[in-house]
This record gives sequence, C-alpha cells and structure tokens, in this order.
Amino acid sequence: MSLRFFNTLTREIEEFRPIEPNRVRMYTCGPTVYDYAHIGNFRAYIFEDLLQRHLELRGYQVERVMNLTDVDDKTIRGARAQGVPLAEFTEPFKQAFFEDLDSLRIRRADHFPEATAPKYIARMIEMIAVLIERECAYRADDGSVYFRIKSFPRYGALAHFNLDELQATGRVRSDEYEKEEASDFALWKAWDPEDGDVWWESPWGRGRPGWHIECSAMATAILGSQIDVHCGGEDNIFPHHEAEIAQTECVTKMPFVRLWMHCKHLLVDGRKMSKSENNFFTLRDLKAKGWSGREVRYVLAAVKYREPLNFTFESLEAARKALARYDEWFERVRAMAAKTAEPLPSELRPEKFTEALDDDLNVSAGLGAIFELIRDSNRLIDAGELSGGQARALLDWREKFDSVLVLSADEEGIPEEVREMLLRRAEAREKKEWALSDALRDQLLATGWQVKDTKEGQKLSRRG
Ligand code: AMP
Ligand code: ZN
Repeated sequence: MSLRFFNTLTREIEEFRPIEPNRVRMYTCGPTVYDYAHIGNFRAYIFEDLLQRHLELRGYQVERVMNLTDVDDKTIRGARAQGVPLAEFTEPFKQAFFEDLDSLRIRRADHFPEATAPKYIARMIEMIAVLIERECAYRADDGSVYFRIKSFPRYGALAHFNLDELQATGRVRSDEYEKEEASDFALWKAWDPEDGDVWWESPWGRGRPGWHIECSAMATAILGSQIDVHCGGEDNIFPHHEAEIAQTECVTKMPFVRLWMHCKHLLVDGRKMSKSENNFFTLRDLKAKGWSGREVRYVLAAVKYREPLNFTFESLEAARKALARYDEWFERVRAMAAKTAEPLPSELRPEKFTEALDDDLNVSAGLGAIFELIRDSNRLIDAGELSGGQARALLDWREKFDSVLVLSADEEGIPEEVREMLLRRAEAREKKEWALSDALRDQLLATGWQVKDTKEGQKLSRRG
C-alpha cells in the first residue's frame, strides 16, 4: 500500500511520490535560537522526526536539513538587551537545543545550517540580486530590499487566500506579520542603529537578511532547487513559507516543494503555547518536575499531527502508565521469545500500526493498534497459547514500532552476551532441555545476573 499525506498546498491527501523513487529531500524549519525551545516547538520537531523515521521504515533514504535561525529580529533584540555579540548570545541556546533533541530522542538532521554562515549569507545576497534583476524585488527609499508580491501571481496559494481581495498595504519590514498585511516583505534589511554590530556588506549597502530568504537560500544550497517535503508548524504557513515559495520559484523557475506538511499547534487551555502568551513549558521545566524526555516524547507524539493537542499534566500521567504497559509487555514477550519467528495467530494484527502511519502519519491510530496487540497477545500468553516463535515475531514487530516511536525504556546496561544467554535459555526451556537451562542459569549467575522463572517467563535482575 502506498503512503498518503495531506498537502497544505492542495488541501488534499495525496499519494507520496518523491522526485527520485527512493530518496526523500526534506527541509524542516528549525528554531530561532533566542531562548530555550518550548515543548510546542518540539511538537513540530517530533512530528518531523516521526515522519522521517516512518519514511525510513518504508525504505526511503531521507536527507534532512534543519536550519538554525541565528539572526533575525528576535535574536538581535536579545543580544542587545544582554549587551553581548549576537553569536555569543545565541550559542547557549544552540547547545541547549541539541541537548533537548537528544533527550526527546529526536534524530539529528543530516545538516544544521546556520543562517549567519558566510556561504549562506553570500547565497542570500546572490538570490536577492537575481530577484532585483528580474524585477521581482526592488530597493525602497528606506534602503531595504523588498519582494514585490504582485510579481508572483501565485502568492497566497499556500495560505489559500486571494491576492486580488487583499488591500495592498505597502511594505512590511518585520519578520512576522498577519495575513491582513500581505505586503511586500523584506529580503534585505538596511542597517539601522537597533542592529548594532550585526550587519554584512551587500550591493545595497550594509544590512542583514530577512528571515524568509534565509530558509530559501539554505534549502536550495543543500538540497537543490526542488524539495520533496517541507515541514513546520502551522504558524509557518504564512508569511514564512508563502514567502519562501515566492522567492525561490522566482529564482529557480521551477516548483520548489512537492509536499508541504504542517502540524497543528500545541495548545494550553485552548490557546497556542507560545512565548508571547507566556503559557509555555520548556523541556527543562518538565524535567525539573520529574518527567522524563521519553514521557514528554510520548505526549507530543501520541496525537496525530493534524489534530490539535492540548497539553496537560494528566496527559503526562497517562503517558507514564502507557509506557509502563509497553515496557512490561516487552519484557514479557522477550523473556519467552525463541530464536526463530513463527507466523502470528490471525487475531493479532501488528501491521495495523504501519498501515495507520502510511495513512497521513496517523500515530494515534498506530498507538491504538499497538495497545490492542498488547492486550490480545497478553491474553494469549495468559492462556498459554502463544509460542516462543510467535513471541519472537512480536518482538520483531516491536522493533519496527520502536524504530519510529523510539519509546524503549533505557536499558540499564544489560550486556549483549547476557541477552544472548537469556535467549538461549528461553529456547532450551521451550524444548524442555532442563539441564541446559540450569547450566545457563548458573552461567548468568556467575556473570552477576540472577534469573527467575515466573509464569510470565524469565525475569532478570542484578545479583545480590
Ligand atoms: P520558532 O522558533 O518560533 O521559529 O518556531 C520553531 C518551530 O516550532 C516552527 O516550526 C513553529 O511553527 C513551531 N511552533 C511554534 N509554536 C508551536 C506550538 N505551540 N505548537 C506546535 N508548533 C509550534
Ligand atoms: Zn524556515
């Protein structure tokens, strides 16, 4: 069965067809490093992580870029408030971001380009020059360069509004603005005293890039003129992604992105979690309250990306319970698994997980399928009706689930050889080779591990 995703551009569920059959070029808008990311931001990054991992499970080779916005209105404001150079101001937030990614088990992108890297600044300038030459951009009296939205008739297509119906409100210099201000936006901002020592030379004088051109330049520099999937949170649709399309396509003269995917916001009491509302939690806040990265990952992953997700502490409690159930089942199945898999009884349907994710990344339905499988296989184990080979088949499936969800408990350093002995012992027991089973138990004990045989199979603990 093919993969299908909702495309923000067409507002339709479409069959997934990357430009090259097995390769996916993926661009994901990364953090603006002016503060610690909050868990709303991480909803977006976890959604993208799940997407990448599912594509990989389905055999695609994914090349992913996540940019770091380290120069924009907000970072400059922050650096000035602290009275430090821009790079010094953003550095700790970059570090913290990577720590949080690891803690939330988000796979690192292949590239993390930084907007201030000289080669990307050069590319931004190059693109702006082409836009001016083609009359898609102009230098205004304030010295800044603006994109002329009237030069791009498809402007508004992603956000689904009609340019003709809008009041042209002139120009807008700030990086973020509302639809009502669908105005010519800044590509290059002429230096002003507020910018302090943040400026680069350009053919239009000293200044700095606008936020939108940063992503167009980094995306095309690394992935080429056409990208398979471009993601972000829904607030990125307008103006950021709308602007990216206009600038890029006016330069490359070809469609920029095949599939646009946006996740809905993480909400708190029905409102978007955001810095400006001051209703946000960082991962650090939650860890300080005793919640783990794994639990937060579960909460953020468990609701399908196009459904609103309201953050509550009850959802963290529920995650803790669900994970305990997942862990317990895993231990149980692992303890009885034989080496070779056997076909599963027809009432167990683990493939419902992958089918759910194929269907517009429906992780909620995927988790539903897993917990159904857990319930039904536990019932079979209780009744003594699940063989060691079937337990192995379940373990193989669990490995697939976990390659996408990454919800395994941190193994407390059970060495590979101990696992191997445990596996051999389970097989011996299945074949009723009691002498071998006992010998393996003694060997395990000698290596410092005690094994007990329970109704649920072998239980391992450290000796003494
Ligand atoms: P920013 O650092 O503000 O540029 O945001 C980084 C990413 O997080 C973008 O893709 C945003 O769309 C996304 N984002 C911001 N707030 C939320 C939220 N409350 N829920 C989900 N995604 C968000
Ligand atoms: Zn971006």
